[in-house]
Amino acid sequence: MASYEYETHEYDVVVVGAGGAGLRATLGMAEQGLRTACVTKVFPTRSHTVAAQGGIAASLSNMGPDNWQWHMYDTVKGSDWLGDMDAQEYMVREAPKAVYELEHYGVPFSRTEEGKIYQRPFGGHTTEFGDGPAVQRTCAAADRTGHAILHTLYGQSLKNNAEFYVEYFAIDLIMSEDGQCQGVVCWKLDDGTMHVFNAKMVVLATGGYGRAYFSATSAHTCTGDGGGMVARAGLALQDMEFVQFHPTGIYGSGCLITEGARGEGGYLTNSEGERFMERYAPQYKDLAPRDYVSRSMTMEIREGRGVGKDGDHIHLNLSHLPAEALAERLPGITESAKIFAGVDLTKEPIPVIPTVHYNMGGIPTNYWGEVMNPTAKDPNAVVPGLMAVGEAGCASVHGANRLGSNSLIDLVVFGRAAAIRAGKVVDAEASNPVLNQAGIDAAFDRFDGLRHASGNVATAELRLEMQKTMQADAAVFRTSKTLTEGVEKMTAIAGKMDDLKVTDRSLVWNSDLMETLELANLMPNALATIHGAEARKESRGAHAHEDFSERDDKNWRVHTISRVDGASVELSHRPVVVKPLTTEADGGISLDKVAPRARTF
Ligand SMILES: Cc1cc2nc3c(=O)[nH]c(=O)nc-3n(C[C@H](O)[C@H](O)[C@H](O)COP(=O)(O)OP(=O)(O)OC[C@H]3O[C@@H](n4cnc5c(N)ncnc54)[C@H](O)[C@@H]3O)c2cc1C
Repeated sequence: MASYEYETHEYDVVVVGAGGAGLRATLGMAEQGLRTACVTKVFPTRSHTVAAQGGIAASLSNMGPDNWQWHMYDTVKGSDWLGDMDAQEYMVREAPKAVYELEHYGVPFSRTEEGKIYQRPFGGHTTEFGDGPAVQRTCAAADRTGHAILHTLYGQSLKNNAEFYVEYFAIDLIMSEDGQCQGVVCWKLDDGTMHVFNAKMVVLATGGYGRAYFSATSAHTCTGDGGGMVARAGLALQDMEFVQFHPTGIYGSGCLITEGARGEGGYLTNSEGERFMERYAPQYKDLAPRDYVSRSMTMEIREGRGVGKDGDHIHLNLSHLPAEALAERLPGITESAKIFAGVDLTKEPIPVIPTVHYNMGGIPTNYWGEVMNPTAKDPNAVVPGLMAVGEAGCASVHGANRLGSNSLIDLVVFGRAAAIRAGKVVDAEASNPVLNQAGIDAAFDRFDGLRHASGNVATAELRLEMQKTMQADAAVFRTSKTLTEGVEKMTAIAGKMDDLKVTDRSLVWNSDLMETLELANLMPNALATIHGAEARKESRGAHAHEDFSERDDKNWRVHTISRVDGASVELSHRPVVVKPLTTEADGGISLDKVAPRARTF
């Protein structure tokens, strides 16, 4: 058995992650006087939330009529009727409150002439239950909304005496024999010391797992560590097959090229120089909806008309546009293309590929952020001592497809909800749990095993194999054949985790080891994704199955629950919550408004 010395820290609450969700939870906990620690592997303001540009949705009605019922309708329809309606209602009703709180904390929102919070239109957000024009619901701080929110929440958390453990990598949860979460084992990256956090409540706010794919708009740190820890604790993941793609990420880096590039007249071409979108979408061509364009691009690549030496991407052409227009309207893109693709877009096309942008699935929770471990007897059974919020969690408000600007509001509403709930269930006077030593030992054993791994496959090699497989076989466009092959390939790839080779054995700034721990977390997320996709015999939201192109509410309006053990995955189902929190008689949304119908726009 591996033996590591460690320091023990006792808190009421330990939040793992300092993105928008983790910081909002941390602040809410600390404000109530709970002794709160926030553990994060990167400096808080470097979390991926910092990259969010567009904004945060809330029906403030600052730019015209709006209400939470309309926001709810849009969210339910956006989710393709897979979201849990209690959580959806909770989010849209609490959204204005959560945004005003952000304002009072000091988020520098852009302003209207009258000094109100500025709101812009965003895809899928409408008036009159989809019958009226688009609504301006997305609150923005210029094109730096995530940046503004993150900096404000970090400052406020410090002011309220939350304690930060920066560049601490959480390795595993500590679970008691009877299934209660008691804390988390961490490795301090800069000096190699080990730390055990003992807490009455652990909150996972570790973000998405975009990096299970070859090309993702998310940061390299988005490795699904929370999902990995949960899977190793024998707990469930939910709806992992629903992965949102954006058509134009830069090939290789995945850096986002805004849809505005095509709005300004840019167009896509294949290896034959053909503007292929004219074939797929004669009316809207390159400005067809995101999932549609992404699917068409993937089809071209699969049929051998991709560009580049491996024929695995597509060209985005902007060089026909006047140089002044590019400089004026797309200065950011011009710069991104230069830095991340080495391309002068006034002369050459940008290599792009449908790029993973967001994970709808994650750790199942109720709308208080409490992690659920669904069983046949109780599909909503709560795991004591454990919460999950933000992209790591699945409440599930986004169901099969998330609307733009609904993630940032998810972070703050459920970060806040988790704090409200912890205020009720955590007893600050009570003593901390007696830690399960076997759990701590197991975490160190696993860590030590990876540290001394002396097999034949380098971490980066295996990671690339996983990413390419996921990109090809669990893509925007799926068939029974690609999914069956994907399951087989991913099972073999996951099997190679036992044959890993780590070359650096040190404990200080060992990026080789950290990336190996991250790969060990990405793997269960990727496995659950491909297995869930293979099993779901319908098309819904982001899951577009060529062989089952219709939505099938009779058989498939259910959440996928996956439990991953090594390379094997066990699937079951959890019913969708189809009852909102309030009834029409109480001023709630009428049930026929949220009943499933065809999803057309
Ligand atoms: C380029 C881009 C633009 C976007 N734009 C928008 C937008 O305009 N509007 C919108 O609503 N959504 C947008 N999204 C989506 C949204 O930004 C994300 O879903 C959201 O920021 C995720 O926040 P989070 O708090 O869950 O996680 P993150 O911000 O990803 O933070 C994760 C945190 O967990 C910590 N962590 C992870 N693993 C460990 C570990 N093992 N040990 C310790 N700490 C760990 C990290 O250090 C980090 O602090 C965008 C996403 C991207 C990628």
